[in-house]
Amino acid sequence: MYNAASINKALKGELLQETGFSEIGHILLDSRKLIFPETSLFIPLVSARRNAHQYIDELYRKGVSNFIVSEPVPLEKYPKANFILVKDTLHALHMLVAWHRQQFNIPVIGITGSNGKTIVKEWLFQLLEKDYNIVRSPKSYNSQIGVPLSVWQMQPENQLAIFEAGISQPGEMVNLEKIIRPTIGIFTNIGEAHSEGFLNIRQKINEKLILFMKSDILIYCKDYLALNECVLSFHNQMQEGPELFSWSRKTDADLRIINTEKLDHHTSIEATYKGETLHIRIPFTDEGSVENAIHCWALMLYLGKEQDVIQQRMDLLSNIAMRLELKQGINNCSVINDSYNLDLGSLTIALDFLQQQQQHQVRTVILSDILQSGKSDATLYEEVADLLRQNGINKLIAIGKNISREKKSFQQIEGLKSQFFNTTDEFIQQFNGDDFQFETILVKGSRVFEFERIGKLLEQKAHQTILEINLTAISQNVKYYQSLLKPNTKLMAMVKAFSYGSGSFEIANLLQFHGVDYLAVAYADEGVELRRAGITMPIMVMNPEPASFDAILHWNLEPELYSMGILMQFMEEVNTAGKSNFPVHIKLDTGMHRLGFVTKDIPELIKVLTSGSVLKVQSVFSHLAASEDPAEDAFTQQQGNLFYEMSHELQKSLGYAVIRHISNSAAITRHPELQLDMVRLGIGMYGIDSAKDIQAQLRNVSTLKTTISQLKELEPGETVGYGRRWEAKRPSVTATVRIGYADGYVRRFGNSKGKMLIRGKLAPVIGVVAMDMCMLDVTHIPEAAEGDEVIVFGQDLPVQQLAEWAESIPYEILTGISQRVKRVYFQE
Ligand SMILES: *Cc1c(COP(=O)(O)O)cnc(C)c1O
Repeated sequence: MYNAASINKALKGELLQETGFSEIGHILLDSRKLIFPETSLFIPLVSARRNAHQYIDELYRKGVSNFIVSEPVPLEKYPKANFILVKDTLHALHMLVAWHRQQFNIPVIGITGSNGKTIVKEWLFQLLEKDYNIVRSPKSYNSQIGVPLSVWQMQPENQLAIFEAGISQPGEMVNLEKIIRPTIGIFTNIGEAHSEGFLNIRQKINEKLILFMKSDILIYCKDYLALNECVLSFHNQMQEGPELFSWSRKTDADLRIINTEKLDHHTSIEATYKGETLHIRIPFTDEGSVENAIHCWALMLYLGKEQDVIQQRMDLLSNIAMRLELKQGINNCSVINDSYNLDLGSLTIALDFLQQQQQHQVRTVILSDILQSGKSDATLYEEVADLLRQNGINKLIAIGKNISREKKSFQQIEGLKSQFFNTTDEFIQQFNGDDFQFETILVKGSRVFEFERIGKLLEQKAHQTILEINLTAISQNVKYYQSLLKPNTKLMAMVKAFSYGSGSFEIANLLQFHGVDYLAVAYADEGVELRRAGITMPIMVMNPEPASFDAILHWNLEPELYSMGILMQFMEEVNTAGKSNFPVHIKLDTGMHRLGFVTKDIPELIKVLTSGSVLKVQSVFSHLAASEDPAEDAFTQQQGNLFYEMSHELQKSLGYAVIRHISNSAAITRHPELQLDMVRLGIGMYGIDSAKDIQAQLRNVSTLKTTISQLKELEPGETVGYGRRWEAKRPSVTATVRIGYADGYVRRFGNSKGKMLIRGKLAPVIGVVAMDMCMLDVTHIPEAAEGDEVIVFGQDLPVQQLAEWAESIPYEILTGISQRVKRVYFQE
């Protein structure tokens, strides 16, 4: 344990105020994630848009007494706290953890590369957990913030550490190297993904290699030519650089792969190592898994593990849950199923995700024993109990002998109902679905407890066509647009039409959590649904109908007023309800000619708005007709100028500040001068932008997938589907898939216009699309099998492509996916 004085010494900061000894065990960066106030050290990070120093006051009141700051603070307000002053808080975080790292003299494995980092890390953990007490990065914590949080977990009982490092631009790896200081390096591979910040692939490789400057050994695959060249020249230049341990399928290497053979559900891999022929078998058949397993194999050989031990453990490798999924459950519950592994780090992350869910009052956790934590059970479950308390958990179902023995820790918590079972079977025998109603349930267990069986009982059986929504990608897209905004420009997120087809409260929850300023929906009903699901932030309603006015008043929604008629009616309603200063938004028509006041309405509008204090104008706005189109830039400018004039006049007469906004997604990047006080982000947040360079910075959010229900072999002359619109010209194989126009897969895709992805290959839609299914030609994909996953759109088959095929736009395709297609949300 550290204290403020020892940390200050390490940071060479200035101890502004010291109030005595208090132990520091936790680093807190996000004020919303406070769990252990007494032992937390808050480090407020500062970015162009957010300065976390503003949370010091709140945290002090919640009992935090250790702070690192880079700005003056009114010390007299916080007499019981220690303050360390530094120049830059992010830099201080890095230095602090680098110093912490130096206290340990154990092997540390550092992993970087384009793909596979997390899997290699998790597999190494599976392969080595019997031999060492291991500390590792939670999930994919590999960024400038994720790495320090990971390395900070190192404790004296650990015997091996495994951390991953990822970078997005030059200059970042130097910091991560100091923090991880790996003794053993693994460079997984190099791909083109996320190259944006780099000039070229070599620059990217060389930057990543910095991680291994001081390592003893570097494990890598020679078959990536650019990687091999860069590694060799790095090796030659560095006098004290790492030794190399290479593997290859093609040329001479330390571990030379001579054969890989795919069996039914396994791959068998043969290699020569130090003149001997060795062999492993893994329970996977895809290329990525084979490569990841060979990295792990090389590492185990380097560590001197016995070949028969390696063989035995490789055969038992299991799938890694890369993400937290939120699914619809029985009796109106929502279920987060994370039943693959369990340790304190991943439990903290999962509870955090659970806490973000506001849709149900009751939060339930089903939890197993935590194995091999390196702590005594008493301490461990005391900590778990603390976590549950801090995250406001209402119900605990604990399964396992150890956790049951520590009952008392949980029973002391006020407001927590707890139940204990010795085994998963015991729980399943007594399971009664009616015990779960309107709650959000986290299912989290160690692998041996097989909690996937519990997940199955709780999840609603889904029709096999699903739309997957990547919540992490939405957050990253929002952050990307935020990074392009002027510091004081606010962000309104458009969640109309079920968040462009991707959900409702699930997305709004996330946006609320990320501190977006405003939400906008099309109709009052949508707003009401969000309020019911616990969304408290301001919500603008763009199409307020008189019939919905009382709902607007009751649920505190804020209408867009676009004509004198609707303005007068709404004023009357507010008056009758005896309210005043009711927040509204004024829509101006600057050229779209859809809704809005025009120039000649302005004098009367001002007269009405200033005649009393019934309404309070929150914002005045307009909508651009063609912001994405360079050919219409002059028109966009003209709209901008007109908006400027009209809004200026309004603002002047109102005598108080109103928020002005006109930009949609495309305008944020194409017309930054129009960002004004707020922007309205829509399609971009869902991962789509019409400009190529911007598109390259966004992450794919939605994946629509289905499955093959039947394969058929057809002779030439046989036909497929209604109206016999497709005829086999050669012996053919067709696949019937479970998606049709009732799911939103429109008939336009029929007759070879549309295609879907099966095992990475495109298969055309043949004949007409039926209501619930359609047929694909898979003659050229002999490996296709019944039950196979079929991607309708996603990362490798963009929605834009479908829009082109159907002569439509991505907006229409996304919002057209019908509600019978279950949405599955996940967080990486
Ligand atoms: C839908 C909508 C937006 C968002 O547009 P995108 O092109 O999706 O960014 C902005 N403003 C208004 C008024 C809208 O209706």
